[in-house]
This record gives sequence, structure tokens and C-alpha cells, in this order.
Amino acid sequence: MGQLAIAGALVFDGKDTLPFGEAIVLVEGERIAWLGPARDAPVGWDRGLVIDGTGQTLLPGLINCHVHLSADPDPRFLPAVALADSPALATLRAARNARLTLQAGETTVCDMGSTKPGIVIDLAKAIAQGLVPGPRVLAAGSAICMTGGHGWFIGREADGPDEVRKAAREQLKLGADLVKLMATGGVLTPGLEVGGIGLSETEMRAGVEEAHNAGKRTATHAIGTAGVKNALRAGIDSVEHGCLLDDECIELLLKSGAYYVPTLAAVTQIVRNASHGQMADYAVHKARQVYERHCASFKQAAEAGARIAAGTDASTPYNPHGGLALEVELMVENGYTARQALRSATSEAARLLGLADQVGALEVGRQADLLLVAGDALSDVRALNAVRAVVKAGGLVGGGAVLAGA
Ligand SMILES: [Zn+2]
Repeated sequence: MGQLAIAGALVFDGKDTLPFGEAIVLVEGERIAWLGPARDAPVGWDRGLVIDGTGQTLLPGLINCHVHLSADPDPRFLPAVALADSPALATLRAARNARLTLQAGETTVCDMGSTKPGIVIDLAKAIAQGLVPGPRVLAAGSAICMTGGHGWFIGREADGPDEVRKAAREQLKLGADLVKLMATGGVLTPGLEVGGIGLSETEMRAGVEEAHNAGKRTATHAIGTAGVKNALRAGIDSVEHGCLLDDECIELLLKSGAYYVPTLAAVTQIVRNASHGQMADYAVHKARQVYERHCASFKQAAEAGARIAAGTDASTPYNPHGGLALEVELMVENGYTARQALRSATSEAARLLGLADQVGALEVGRQADLLLVAGDALSDVRALNAVRAVVKAGGLVGGGAVLAGA
């Protein structure tokens, strides 16, 4: 890795658009070395590889706070599909999905539950060691659910606080970066009420305590109102999905400072593709049950000023790996400005993941994780689909035409 410069692009630094027109962003090794207007650029700024960013937007690499790398977005979905893989096959599938994710400009992701124990924790290590391409990966290991609870066929079933504590310790022993606790039923598990209660507040409190004792954070899958409240009262750090929020849920979110990761893409893609007839009827039915309330929950949380980070739940039907652009677009459709939505996919997401001092913003000294897209992403976030260059830790790792000339 030598020196790389990107010149002439509109620059969104993770919080705001930079005021200078002719911008230069300079990368040395793994880090951002300089950024500012061209007229002030240091001598020799153009001695390495120079990418012409004219007519394009340069942003921090995107951060997807909710993915499942070891599963494909198969419309038939789980349990049959997930159970069919051996651990080795699931690991290879996860490696392929990690590559697709990175190529789409997502340079950091958080895996919220693998289909076989521990495999994405190991994939994260393999990526960090340079064995296979992929984004930075934080991983929860196996999601912890009650016996027969949402995701039981891929999760670690646990009942009672002591067993949840043990299950959390097992994930931490494997090297999990966070502990995921299932507070409610879900759309894709047959036979469960979508908003029904999963782990109790007492059970989750034991899991949260173990994670926090180890200096790790916690996240909850929570669709229904009562489950969201149980999780927030138990001290959870992020509420995933949160389809059926009420005033009290939002009050608890604001009071606790917990994040909300709405994953609008997951439910939206099931509803939008229902007519294809490939998904199980129960999944379509449950998605339709929550869809409108889900959009309304996002709007209400956004208006109340809750902290919101972007995640897709990649792997659910028609919800591909590398699809964060759609989530950003849906946030805008539901009331966020482009700037707010882009923050939730960069600087806010980095803060949720505890990586705010490393990624999620274009600042001197940070990791050079960059995404260059065609067009003005601040005017139309759909520009995120037009990837021109992806840089991870200073290395050019994606972006078609640019790679060919590199
Ligand atoms: Zn999920």
C-alpha cells in the first residue's frame, strides 16, 4: 500500500459535506493522511495512484450494523435452507457473501447470528489476517433465544437467567464481539407470533451483564412492543427491527441512549416481492402484519431524535448482501434527510459498533475506508448503487473500472 489520492469529488465526511469544491483526499498506508481544498494540498500529493472523482461523491466506507453472512437471501429461507449446510459449507458461503458485501462499498459489518456456531467469528479472523477478502466484521456468534424461540434452528437455545448467562459466556469464549438476545418472535420462524415475547427481562439482564462484564455490547432482535421494553429495561445497547414501537418504547430508547437499527429493508423486501410466490405464506402474512407500523415506528423514532444506525438484516428474502443502499433509500422515503440517512450508515453506525475512533468518518488519522460513487449522493442517495471505487484500510479493493487501471 503506497499513496493514493482522490481528487475533485464532492466529499461527505460522515457528518457533513465539506465546504471546499476542489477536494483532495490523500491516503498514506492504511490511513487518511490529509484532506482539504486542492489549492492547499501538500507538494507531491499526486505522486501515487490518483483517482479522478469529478462528478462523484466520496464517503466513508458504509457500515452495515445487521447482517447474517453465513446465509443467502433465499426466498424459501429458513429453517430448511439453513439446516442443509455443513459448518464448512456455511463458512464458505459466508466468505463469498463477505466479498460481495465489500464490493458493494460496505467496509464494516456486524454479523448478528451465524447459521453454525462460531463460524463468522472465525471468518472475521480470516479476513483480518488477509486470507480472504471482506469487510471488517464484528460478530455475535450464535443468537441466544428461548427454547423454540425465533431463530432456534440456528441459535443457542437457553432458558432461565443462569442458562442465558452460560450461553453468553460461550459466545464470548469463542471470541464474539457482542451478545445477541432474542426478545420476541419473528417473521421468518414458523409457528410463532411475530410480536410475541421471547427471552424475559430477567433472562436478558443476565446476558447483558455477562457481555458488559467482558466489555462487550449487546443487541436484541425485538419486533413487538413488550419485548422491546423488556430488552431496554434489561440494559440492551441496540434494538434491532423494532417494528411495533409505541411512545413508551421511544421514551425508553431516548432515556437509555440505546440505538435503534430498524432494518426496514427486511420487511419491505418481503412485502414488495410477495407476488413472486416463492416465500412461505406465514412469512408474507407476518411481514404484511407489521409493515405499516414498522415504517411509522421509524418515523416516530426519527422525529423524536432517537439514535438510529443502518442495518439491512442481509440474508432475509430478496435482501442481498451488500444492499445497504436500499436501507438508506428507505430511511429517506420514511422521513430522514439524505444527510441523516448517510450518517446512520457511517458515523452513527461506527459509534454504535464502538469503532468511532477508527472508521465511519473521513478524518486525518482514521482508517482509510472509502467509497466513491457516481453522482451526488447528498441529492439522491440512490447514487450509492453506482459504486466506482472501494478502499479498505488504504487498499483499493473494488470498483470495476478503477481497479482495471490500478
Ligand atoms: Zn437478523
